[in-house]
Amino acid sequence: MKRLGIVYHPDYLLHVPPFEHPESPERLQAVMERLEKAKLLEKTAQITPEFADEGDVLAVHDRKYLDQLEKACRRGDMTLDAGDTYLCRHSYNISLLSAGGAIAGAKAVAEGSLDRVFCAIRPPGHHASRDVGMGFCLLNNVAVAAKYLQARFDVGKILIVDWDVHHGNGTQSVFLEDPSVFFFSVHEHPTFIYPGTGRRWEIGKGKGEGATLNAPMAPGSGDDEYRVVFDQVLTPAVERFRPEFVLVSAGFDAHADDPLADIRLSYEGYRYMTRAVIGLAERFCGGKLVSVLEGGYEISSLTNCIEIHVREMLEE
Ligand SMILES: [Zn+2]
Repeated sequence: MKRLGIVYHPDYLLHVPPFEHPESPERLQAVMERLEKAKLLEKTAQITPEFADEGDVLAVHDRKYLDQLEKACRRGDMTLDAGDTYLCRHSYNISLLSAGGAIAGAKAVAEGSLDRVFCAIRPPGHHASRDVGMGFCLLNNVAVAAKYLQARFDVGKILIVDWDVHHGNGTQSVFLEDPSVFFFSVHEHPTFIYPGTGRRWEIGKGKGEGATLNAPMAPGSGDDEYRVVFDQVLTPAVERFRPEFVLVSAGFDAHADDPLADIRLSYEGYRYMTRAVIGLAERFCGGKLVSVLEGGYEISSLTNCIEIHVREMLEE
């Protein structure tokens, strides 16, 4: 059995939509209830995160954007972008706590006190870029964790695997010209789904050219198509890149039951992807793996997927 940590804070439930919205506190509540009922909390270490240090967040986001976000929450604005990225009075603080959750997970694994960590955090992060939040995301949690590992633990090369059904455009933009972070995203094809990026020819820029890899999937794709991508596209790329640490942007909205997309992964598909990233971490990174929750909006498939994901990481 691996030493697995679960990051969670009850204050994550304080980020509350002012209108009916798929990214709700109930998602995380249901996840934690499931992990408890499945007796997975007693087999794992509970990590209570703190607010991310400003310096760690500023490694990814502009000061001006942070100030805008803080002011918008204090004013009582209901959305960030006049779209569907909602805010409440607590949202700024809770987004710092969410980024702090990814940092806490990264720290525990980098220090060696735990083998792997799953971060049950919200709001999600992978659509947030340096100066803009979007797609339900305020701060880019996984990007903050990657920069933190490089700054505080002298980790060199990091692999980010983003299997949320939406392209991780924010994460891609943060590391577009950075050859030290390899960003891989598998998602529904941008012609059919938000945010409309993540095409095959988006491969990074300048020194970062070749360190971004996108696998857009046709609507209706499922386990077989994803297996081919993990085996024949991701694995050879990782063999060339040779990361020292693996971060996962774990969205569970590619499950067939999720209402926001048209990818048809089954539970076995999620099990396969989890085993694949564990295998890559074991081969190249001494097993160092931190998985960070992104999307997943259908409560039943979300909780089932996460139970499988956590069980696989625990290796009972
Ligand atoms: Zn998503």
